[in-house]
Amino acid sequence: MKNEQNDLMEKIVSLCKRRGFVWPACEIYGGFSAAYSYGPYGAQLKKNIKDLWWKKFVEEREDIVGLDGPILLHPKLWEASGHTAGFNDAMVDCKECKKRFRADHLVKELTGQDLEGDLAAMNDALAGQKCPECGKSSWTEAKMVNMMFKTEMNGFDGPVYLRPETAGAIFVDFKNVCDSTRVKIPFGIAQIGKAFRNEIVARNFIFRTREFEQMEIEYLFDPEARWEELFDKWLVRQEEFYYALGVQKENLRRFEHPKEKLSHYSKKTVDLEYNFPFGWSELSGLANRTDFDLSTHAKLSGQDLSWTDSATGRKFIPHVIEPSFGVDRALLAALLAAYTEEKINNSPLERGDSAAESGCVKNGVTEEVRIVMKFPAKIAPVKIAIFPLLKNKPALVEKAKNIFDELKKDFTCEFDDNGNVGKRYRRQDEIGTPYCVTVDFDTIEKDDTVTVRDRDTMEQQRIKVSELPKYFSEKLK
Ligand code: ATP
Repeated sequence: MKNEQNDLMEKIVSLCKRRGFVWPACEIYGGFSAAYSYGPYGAQLKKNIKDLWWKKFVEEREDIVGLDGPILLHPKLWEASGHTAGFNDAMVDCKECKKRFRADHLVKELTGQDLEGDLAAMNDALAGQKCPECGKSSWTEAKMVNMMFKTEMNGFDGPVYLRPETAGAIFVDFKNVCDSTRVKIPFGIAQIGKAFRNEIVARNFIFRTREFEQMEIEYLFDPEARWEELFDKWLVRQEEFYYALGVQKENLRRFEHPKEKLSHYSKKTVDLEYNFPFGWSELSGLANRTDFDLSTHAKLSGQDLSWTDSATGRKFIPHVIEPSFGVDRALLAALLAAYTEEKINNSPLERGDSAAESGCVKNGVTEEVRIVMKFPAKIAPVKIAIFPLLKNKPALVEKAKNIFDELKKDFTCEFDDNGNVGKRYRRQDEIGTPYCVTVDFDTIEKDDTVTVRDRDTMEQQRIKVSELPKYFSEKLK
């Protein structure tokens, strides 16, 4: 089972490179510190995931507004939030092979104990334990390192940090949002953007990187309101979002942080975990952060960050529930959930008439395994691929180009005339395109219909060219 799972991860990494989703950045210089670039289909997939999130949590709601704050923010913000003093992870090195580990992860792996935050206990637990890399037992003292990236800014005295989370800007802009819009408690402020963490070990492909993207909301409410109900509703909304990305129910679970492990500001924290090939791991978090952030900013800035209830005149500092999603982890889960291998009997119809397929052909039927990314249509990078049956027949090419020009006004489309139709189908299957349209001789000589092929069922039907926009508007809703 474990091997099968590792295998799946390798298949995903390989497909991502082969088909232009994600690959290691700076490959011509040998790569750079587990940094990844999103290729053409990955960039589009990522955009679609962010757009879906924004639509669901901002555009379709009356009680949430958007924000786009800077990456470089006043260092006082990170002082107030506790990141300057306390955003630390413990690291430990193997003295023999020089391999670096995150101490709490290593202790968990070797002893099963969760000792995060307790340096002395971690050092004790590691004594005598063997390095998983070289088998020796010689550790440096575990020590805490701050995970914020430090930089400098012209005209500013002292260090400046790349934001370690997007939420910071939301709190410092809270007053401006209240003053410039018609928001009313309870309401939320949402933001999508890059965050940076100097992780001790970046690993598991795009699961843990040092530069990543987050989608976060601070949902502000009256401290006298029943926050438990609100919290549960947010959990369900988070789950629904992942289901909309294609995540299967059995691969998603809730993990509530035990009381004694809660951050000092949190009343309750629940992570959603996905069943990744490397084990159940955090996909997103949900925390009741109380009034910690606004109160601390109010104190440190000397500004009044309270809310006045217009009906009663009661003044209070709102409490917040924070749903926090990682874009890259959501994308990895969407890739894993979509990946499907199917043994198929590949008929001449599916191969395309002119197909000179490689593979085992028996009575005109080829047996092969097709890899198909079954993304929900909403997030598929390409919605419709349009092909002329043959590249060297100008009338077919021209007709297919015209259809492409028409459909691309409303849908993300791709034109492809390379290789035989069967190979083009396989390529589109691997990037998860829900529909392929093929222009053939009947289209131009007979009835102005095209073949529309469904990614999942592989069924083909003839549709009139004039009906394509309506057909796809319904199918891709
Ligand atoms: P972890 O325990 O995995 O380090 P975290 O609890 O520190 O994560 P949060 O601070 O709750 O993470 O951040 C919210 C979300 O941001 C996470 O649920 C995750 O999706 C994403 N995220 C955090 N760190 C990284 C990272 N290094 N790479 C990619 N995504 C990340």
